[in-house]
Amino acid sequence: TADQWEVDPEELILGQELGSGQFGLVMEGKWRETRVAVKMIRDKCMSDEDFKEEARVMMKLSHSRLVQLYGVCTQRSPMCLVFELMENGCLSDYLRDRKGCLSQEMMLGMCLDVSEGMAYLESSNFIHRDLAARNCLVSKNIEVKVSDFGMTRFVPDDQYTSSQCSKFPVKWSAPEVIKYCKFSSKSDIWSFGVIMWEIYNEGRLPYENRSNTEVVESLNSGMRLLKPRMAPDAVYQLMDWCWKEKPDDRPSFVQVLHELAALGNL
Ligand code: ADP
Repeated sequence: TADQWEVDPEELILGQELGSGQFGLVMEGKWRETRVAVKMIRDKCMSDEDFKEEARVMMKLSHSRLVQLYGVCTQRSPMCLVFELMENGCLSDYLRDRKGCLSQEMMLGMCLDVSEGMAYLESSNFIHRDLAARNCLVSKNIEVKVSDFGMTRFVPDDQYTSSQCSKFPVKWSAPEVIKYCKFSSKSDIWSFGVIMWEIYNEGRLPYENRSNTEVVESLNSGMRLLKPRMAPDAVYQLMDWCWKEKPDDRPSFVQVLHELAALGNL
């Protein structure tokens, strides 16, 4: 029986390679007259029973600022996931490529886009767990959308999921995630503060020349990322609010969304 989220491999036409990630290659494709991005899942790279269950949840999440999952193709090997195509690639590369050309309005707009997608996830009680500019994508019309939500749970490689290991995204993680793996929308908002920092620094990597251990030490002693040269004070105050030690002292995404929208109306 064909499930509604199952993509018929006959209907999927594959084109050129777009990139590669933790799970394997990402290809451009066409599915029922729609241009799509197809994520091929390398063998043993994802426990598929768990995933199929969760894909149903992820497909129900639908918002203009989230990269839409259209379906999964589990009938062929490698298994693949079919997503909305984002012509302008990932946000971190987009920012680096346009260094010196980004206006204040564009940077604020990008922060707003991400906060809208995340406010929707927050209201759906869905935790992203790996929010970073590299996991946001840019559409043909330069809208920024949140991608890869919840996906780290399906990476069997514990290099990525254990905070002790080298691939763990320590530089985007809230202290309680690093210490106890306690994920929540309040740990997502910490990561969002780091995305704002990345946007206003035109795609620079946070804590560029520091090791994960050094970053953890400096966070513990109360230090935070510095104000990007291009960030207005009000914008930096918002980032800094996202980096409060106690999760409850941080804003919600809805709050941040309203604050950003107000700044845009000044
Ligand atoms: P993973 O999550 O497996 O690490 P990514 O999602 O980072 O993989 O994808 C790797 C690359 O493929 C991205 O940097 C981007 O360039 C490209 N890509 C991924 N998803 C899409 C998409 N929906 N549209 C266009 N390009 C994409």
